[in-house]
Amino acid sequence: MMNPDWEVVLGLEIHCQLATNTKIFCGCPARAPEGVSVADLGPNANTCPVCTGQPGALPVLNRKVVDYAIRAGLAMNCEIRKHNVFSRKNYFYPDLPKGYQISQFDLPICEKGHVDIEYKAGGKEVQKRIGITRIHMEEDAGKNLHMDAFSLVNLNRACVPLIEIVSEPDMRSAEEAGAYMRAVYGIVTAIGVCDGNMQEGNFRCDANVSVMPKGSTKFGTRAEIKNVNSFRFVEKAIEYEVQRQIALIQSGGKVVQETRLWDSAKGQTFSMRSKEEAHDYRYFPEPDLIPVHVDEKWIAKVKDELPELPSQKKARYVSELGLSSYDAGVLTSSAALAKFFEDTLKILAPDGNASGNTAKAVSNHLGGEVSRLMNEENLELNQSKIAPKHLAEIVKLQTANVISSTGAKTIIGVTWKTGEAVDGIVEREGLKQVSDTGALEKAVDTIIAANPGQVAEYRGGKDKLLGFFVGQAMKATGGKANPAMLQEIVKRKLAGN
Ligand SMILES: [Zn+2]
Repeated sequence: MMNPDWEVVLGLEIHCQLATNTKIFCGCPARAPEGVSVADLGPNANTCPVCTGQPGALPVLNRKVVDYAIRAGLAMNCEIRKHNVFSRKNYFYPDLPKGYQISQFDLPICEKGHVDIEYKAGGKEVQKRIGITRIHMEEDAGKNLHMDAFSLVNLNRACVPLIEIVSEPDMRSAEEAGAYMRAVYGIVTAIGVCDGNMQEGNFRCDANVSVMPKGSTKFGTRAEIKNVNSFRFVEKAIEYEVQRQIALIQSGGKVVQETRLWDSAKGQTFSMRSKEEAHDYRYFPEPDLIPVHVDEKWIAKVKDELPELPSQKKARYVSELGLSSYDAGVLTSSAALAKFFEDTLKILAPDGNASGNTAKAVSNHLGGEVSRLMNEENLELNQSKIAPKHLAEIVKLQTANVISSTGAKTIIGVTWKTGEAVDGIVEREGLKQVSDTGALEKAVDTIIAANPGQVAEYRGGKDKLLGFFVGQAMKATGGKANPAMLQEIVKRKLAGN
């Protein structure tokens, strides 16, 4: 995919909605009530004079937002700024009723951090450290809904607290950007500052993409792909954009600095508007808010309350459970996945002493079929119907040789959609393996008797024919034979025992 004559330079700006109860500058609820989806919340139901930008209404900073920003900064190895100033970013758009967004500009709360990533490229595991330039606090804008002849504005989202996590331009491939986005997601969900709901846009990113001839030190002009809310789409959008820029330059054209949008249906990025420079926004310190002073005591308190980080969890899975670093990394890439893993182990080993094999079996399913379904349907684990009790049952049945690995995948697929009990699925789909030695021996005897030529060849040294006999016997049992037992019986019978 990547062109050997060109180097890709990528930086990500991740917008992460903070899971506070109220908005950043007013007392309105920051999200829909429990059990109600944002889409079903009435338009402008969560609004007041402050977040609708009424003249004379004054903002008051939500302390929890600062708490969460510090927490995120510490989890991403940042320096925390003690003297914090909010700034006005001036621009006009109907979903921004004040005519400016309250953000942070030259004095952001966190700076100079890093996140370590690990991913597979061409079958090899790659580890890399990605620099974090800054993390700042800001308010979200509302949402415009464009109808045929008019537009509607919904300000439920206006003033909802965000942190923007800006990376250094350290990434060199779409896979690297995807791995970084997953790592940050794992951190913000693990420390509880973000609910991670990507479909509702609570975790989304802008990708800055540029290309330069290999060996060059001068970065090319970059285009920004705005608001991508899926790991898979971010990788696809970057791959498309890289090819577009290379083709453009090679045909004598020039990349222009602009904002582009990703169309997942067409698999293309398209131009939205020319990109503003920082000075276009006429930033100035927000006069309605006093500077925020964060002292050592405050930082120490947040540090004390910091839960186990994905990197620490990962190290623990490797040392205590014997998982590979890569597998442990996959499990800790989201708080929901790690919790699911631990809850499943608790069912399988209530005493807390799960064996390495059990941990590996659970990890294989989560990193394999379950992750595949998550990617395919772009869902978080807790949005599916599968529960730890299902996976625990699947692992138990597989360990007892009652079901095969193919059977396990089938069950995962069904429980993912329906949440149905595992034993019912096993019965209905006929997934029970034949582990009855007598029945398997009979099937093998029949195959051996029917193929005297091959038997002679095998006994004459053609070992490869073992697969032929196992395959035939498997067919004879309707594909339901326990493969390990069957192989053992075929070998024994062919040896004449
Ligand atoms: Zn409000």
